[in-house]
Amino acid sequence: MSSNSKIENIQDIVNKNLCHRCGTCVGLYPDKLEFVDVLDSYKVNVKSPLTAEENQNVMKYCSGHEVDFPELNKTLFGADYSANNFIGHHEKLYIAFAKDQEIRYNSASGGILSLLLIYLLESKQVDGAVVLGMDPDQPWRVKPFIAKTRKEVMQSAQSKYVISSVNEILPEILDFDGTLAYVGLPCQVHSLRKMMLDNQFDLSKIKYIFGPYCGNTLHYSSLKSFLKKMNVHDVSEIKELNFRYGEWPGNMRVLTKSGDEFLMPKFHANYLIPFHIESRCLTCTDLSNEFTDISSGDAWAPKYEERGKGFSIMVVRSQKGKQLVDELVEKSLVDVVEIERNKAVEMHSHGYDLKKRGAFLRISFLKKLHRAVPQYGYEVKTSNSTRVVFELVLDSLFWICKLKISRYIIDLIPHKVVGKIFEKTRKVWKRITKEIKKKDLVEEPENSQEAANS
Ligand SMILES: Cc1cc2nc3c(=O)[nH]c(=O)nc-3n(C[C@H](O)[C@H](O)[C@H](O)COP(=O)(O)OP(=O)(O)OC[C@H]3O[C@@H](n4cnc5c(N)ncnc54)[C@H](O)[C@@H]3O)c2cc1C
Repeated sequence: MSSNSKIENIQDIVNKNLCHRCGTCVGLYPDKLEFVDVLDSYKVNVKSPLTAEENQNVMKYCSGHEVDFPELNKTLFGADYSANNFIGHHEKLYIAFAKDQEIRYNSASGGILSLLLIYLLESKQVDGAVVLGMDPDQPWRVKPFIAKTRKEVMQSAQSKYVISSVNEILPEILDFDGTLAYVGLPCQVHSLRKMMLDNQFDLSKIKYIFGPYCGNTLHYSSLKSFLKKMNVHDVSEIKELNFRYGEWPGNMRVLTKSGDEFLMPKFHANYLIPFHIESRCLTCTDLSNEFTDISSGDAWAPKYEERGKGFSIMVVRSQKGKQLVDELVEKSLVDVVEIERNKAVEMHSHGYDLKKRGAFLRISFLKKLHRAVPQYGYEVKTSNSTRVVFELVLDSLFWICKLKISRYIIDLIPHKVVGKIFEKTRKVWKRITKEIKKKDLVEEPENSQEAANS
């Protein structure tokens, strides 16, 4: 028996490590709930007790303990959920980039999310866009806001690889006079979709939901670790922080108030992941933001990576999303090349392996330990014993890396050395594990690994 039966309130969600920090509960009841210890545990604190009705709402809309993928899929797209499709429901899959070079080069990959928002705002199809920028008062910290102009959308571009509780902005959304587009991570979108389908709060002003792919997010301890390497003593010394600065795939970058600039290539900065990953991400099964109208990730393939400039994979899911992309194509605002599902899965095979097979294996291990686990209404089963052993090795590494002593040691190694070591290790690791990971991922569903709606 797992300890899921005892999940009754937000404290249970937090204490049982089910909280994504999506921000919905704090957004719903900002007078009673708050995020504390942002630079470390970044967790929800109860300032004053919720009423029974408030608690019921929090539990209903929280994406931490329960998201019924098949039900959401049926309601949103009118289609049965295929557990071994991996990408989620889609009408079209494209490799794409914004033709406007300013948008493309300012963005994380191909500038697709920025382009969609700017087009909707400029064609007056929406009045505002919920995005994530940097807090002008605390430039080390992310902050959601409603962008109303091209300039504001451009200011919010690029991925932020630290915890972002976007749904804290709910009061502003509810007060907003006009229509909106919204950008969020999968966990944030899950929660928002639950709320929108329930109709208790008037969120019908949100006309489009977009979002990036999301492999994982990191605690702010990752930023502190990066700063230590650069001999910057405190986050308060930061004037500007970027995670994808410069040409695709870009660099993690800190500009200090005293004018020093520190850069680390994205693939080197990835060394932070095993040491600072937000652990709830390891039981999340949504890489490609399956319940958006359109989602976008990096087009990771040598063919595109060697060209730089910025290429995205664009997953068009809803009819509404399809009409919008058709409009952009017709107006020659976006460059698109259609690709097949197998190619799209192959491009992110490591990510799908981590978030589909891996997450369900981790969930099964946690169940055996009688720990609370999220419920998704479906399961991807892995009968391949090599993959199970591989998962145990991987999880042990995650566990070791998150120890204080491991973080301490990694912080002592100069950044140029650690980045290079990490990139090389990652390449070797990817080569060794390629067959285990790719096995069955890119075949047709009927031949694919055992998978079942439960
Ligand atoms: C935490 C995180 C993990 C990711 N993991 C992967 C991955 O494993 N594989 C992969 O292919 N792609 C991943 N991506 C997506 C990728 O980095 C790009 O965001 C994506 O390709 C879209 O690029 P774009 O040029 O269209 O976006 P842009 O035009 O640069 O727009 C980015 C939009 O995303 C919003 N945004 C940025 N960061 C956050 C955040 N933390 N929370 C909420 N909204 C945010 C911004 O407000 C902006 O609207 C990840 C992104 C994030 C934020």
